[in-house]
Amino acid sequence: MEWFAHSGSCRFCRTGAYNLCERIERTSGGSHSGFAEYVVAHVSSLFKVPEGISASEAAMIEPLAVAVRAHGRAMGNAGGTLLVMGAGTIGLLVTAVGKIFGSARVITAARYPHQAERAAKWGADAVVLPGKTGIEARVWELTAGAWADAVVETTASASGLAAAVACVRPAGRVALVGGFHKPREVDLKRVVDNEITLTGCLCYSYTGLQRDFDAAIDLIASRRLDAGALITHRFPLTEIEKALAAAADKGGGSIKVQVYNSAVL
Ligand SMILES: [Zn+2]
Repeated sequence: MEWFAHSGSCRFCRTGAYNLCERIERTSGGSHSGFAEYVVAHVSSLFKVPEGISASEAAMIEPLAVAVRAHGRAMGNAGGTLLVMGAGTIGLLVTAVGKIFGSARVITAARYPHQAERAAKWGADAVVLPGKTGIEARVWELTAGAWADAVVETTASASGLAAAVACVRPAGRVALVGGFHKPREVDLKRVVDNEITLTGCLCYSYTGLQRDFDAAIDLIASRRLDAGALITHRFPLTEIEKALAAAADKGGGSIKVQVYNSAVL
């Protein structure tokens, strides 16, 4: 289920960019619908889960659709070097999507060792940790000074944004998918001098002729991507406080934390 309903008739919807709908409405009256017993959603935001996909895997379709869109916004159809800033759920999913969709090389920048380990397992050709030399020096070394063709920035941190802009090649693209909830300062001289494209990615809509949700469903249904492998913790609804604490403690080894209703599943 997409978390918003769109009008289908405004100027953005009519061109397929329905995530930018002028009359966008969050599901269940703006409650975001998390952990509710019942949810009201418009039919246009619903997708059928194919047989063979578990509820746990199906819950990964939404973040995977975000990753599919971010990858498309950054790389288009190019097959070059993709740098992924961040190795949380979205960063790891973008890493996997990059390899599946044909990036020649994916470099993933992780903050924590357990994230780095997952990124390597998920197909990253190289994983960089901030370390002493910093991300920029490592990417320069790995690309022999050519830099990345595209960057997906998932951390929304000042350092992640700075590294994204510093590590993309001239005329390359940087797609921002992190939740920037406060202003960040960034040196834009490199963007101007090198004609770099900075773009945002809001949730999902169409990439080409396919809805990002459908692409995500296809990736899981075809078993090209094992979305369940990112789930590090599962808690019943009665232990939701533990789940939220585990999700917030990124240094404690969590990637994706799921809450399930033991009365249903
Ligand atoms: Zn609309």
